[in-house]
Amino acid sequence: MRTRLDHLVTSALQHGSAVPAFTCYDFTTAMAVVAAAEEAGRGAILLVAPKTAATPNGLRLIGALRGLADAASVPVAVQLDHATDLQVMADAVAAGADSVLADGSALPYEDNIALVRGARSLLGPDVVLEAELGGLAGDEDRAFGADQSGVAVAGLTDSALVEDFVSRTGAELLAVAVGNVHGKYKGEPQLRWDVLQDIAVRTHIPLVLHGASGIPAEELVKAAAMNVGKVNFNTELRTGVLATLQDQLPGHRSDGENLQGLLGHWNSSARTFAAQTLATLTR
Ligand SMILES: [Zn+2]
Repeated sequence: MRTRLDHLVTSALQHGSAVPAFTCYDFTTAMAVVAAAEEAGRGAILLVAPKTAATPNGLRLIGALRGLADAASVPVAVQLDHATDLQVMADAVAAGADSVLADGSALPYEDNIALVRGARSLLGPDVVLEAELGGLAGDEDRAFGADQSGVAVAGLTDSALVEDFVSRTGAELLAVAVGNVHGKYKGEPQLRWDVLQDIAVRTHIPLVLHGASGIPAEELVKAAAMNVGKVNFNTELRTGVLATLQDQLPGHRSDGENLQGLLGHWNSSARTFAAQTLATLTR
């Protein structure tokens, strides 16, 4: 059943769990995520990249994801990820997304607030808004090793600004930069749990950790205790699917150009990853 993203996350946090969110560039991956969630009896979030939402076919994908969420036997939400363009947000919501990350984190502080407020007045009270404070290094859609020094350049979330930012934006969730990066980590991720703790005591709204691919499971399990109720995965899911396809492609080509069989492997790779992630984040 489709569920408001903030309700899904808040109810998971009440049980000491976080909800995983997976970027879906295609329907095969989305079906795998929902199947894993149904098998686990847990909720999940389907993320749509802004580059996807900016195309007519991408808007049709959002419509299909909404249908998938409506039909699921567990709570599922559909969110437009990292949107900076109000028109793309409006189009994605009209196509069926029920939540938006209005991402002004690359903008000056006041402009960031203005973007989230603009999204609210455009999209209305029923669309759940995530906002982001502090910049994440790396590229969401393409996995290059993010330079750790990029974290310093992009900037950790300034916990002193959190109360002001949350109250003025009216966002329901807050994405934070605490040493997490998009894409691949160079070396060991250095998560700043002290900064996260500092943020968590300054706001009651659920926090969101992006760039969770590459953060060890034993670190991720600590997240919910610091009010991180949503954890975004992208790179690790793609890595698994692409490795599986590379491995399976020759055999399936020689097996009568067996695309259907290959898609089955795509599905099971994504499903296995989603199942492991759900298990990691569930208490
Ligand atoms: Zn992200």
